[in-house]
Amino acid sequence: MTLQQTTKQGCIKAMMGCTSKISDRLKAVKKNVKNACARVGRDPDDVKIIIVTKTAATEATKEVIRVGCTDLGENRVQHLKQIAAEMDAFIAENKDNPKVPTKLVWHMIGHLQRNKVKQALQICDFIHSVDTLRLAEEIDQIAAKLGKRPDVLLQVNCSDEPQKYGVPVGAATHLAEQITTMKNMRLVGLMTMAPLTLNKEIVRACFIRARELFEEIKGEKLVGPEFSQLSMGMSQDYEIAIEEGATILRIGSAIFA
Ligand SMILES: *Cc1c(COP(=O)(O)O)cnc(C)c1O
Repeated sequence: MTLQQTTKQGCIKAMMGCTSKISDRLKAVKKNVKNACARVGRDPDDVKIIIVTKTAATEATKEVIRVGCTDLGENRVQHLKQIAAEMDAFIAENKDNPKVPTKLVWHMIGHLQRNKVKQALQICDFIHSVDTLRLAEEIDQIAAKLGKRPDVLLQVNCSDEPQKYGVPVGAATHLAEQITTMKNMRLVGLMTMAPLTLNKEIVRACFIRARELFEEIKGEKLVGPEFSQLSMGMSQDYEIAIEEGATILRIGSAIFA
């Protein structure tokens, strides 16, 4: 074998290694999801996994799409635009490959500045990070102009960390009520992030608070049946989130790290 051939084989092996690692990690996450659901008597089909691509290389992102993932999340508009364009091109190139899905659903999961709303709405069907009336009003106006009606979630700060984004729990119901009057979006649920801590009880307390608020808003009949999603749980804490009622998980590093 020539040096060139050896190198080529090495590259292919390295690529395949990376490929199988990603699908193995995804399988492991799905198994953990299934087990967590079983512990609390939930149906795993009621828990959607959003693959967070913010730290993933382009090839790795293609790989999750190739294994059938269609819901992808980004926390920055700049990177969202770049990766969404790359993945559109990838899908177009592979339109004859039955394994590659024909459409992706992008979720904006990070803090959204009002001057970036238009760019986000051009790509995303879901915005998880609505946390002020001003942002909601901007989304309403821009969505009308673009002829879109995104699904939005109200981001709630359930951990009382002052530096964190999210509406305080005490103000959430009122803001939810205001958002439901806006015609160009659908309020479909709540999103929260647990504090960064290894203390599982602190994490669990945050998720319980989010779930209680979610039930409370549902119970007040401010919202319709579309208010059904609880977006919580990341790589470090998704099993606890499932036990406490999450319907959407946002997972990145457990798959790409
Ligand atoms: C990065 C990010 C995630 C995923 O975090 P991992 O720990 O990599 O799973 C989820 N939600 C938000 C809002 C994020 O910014």
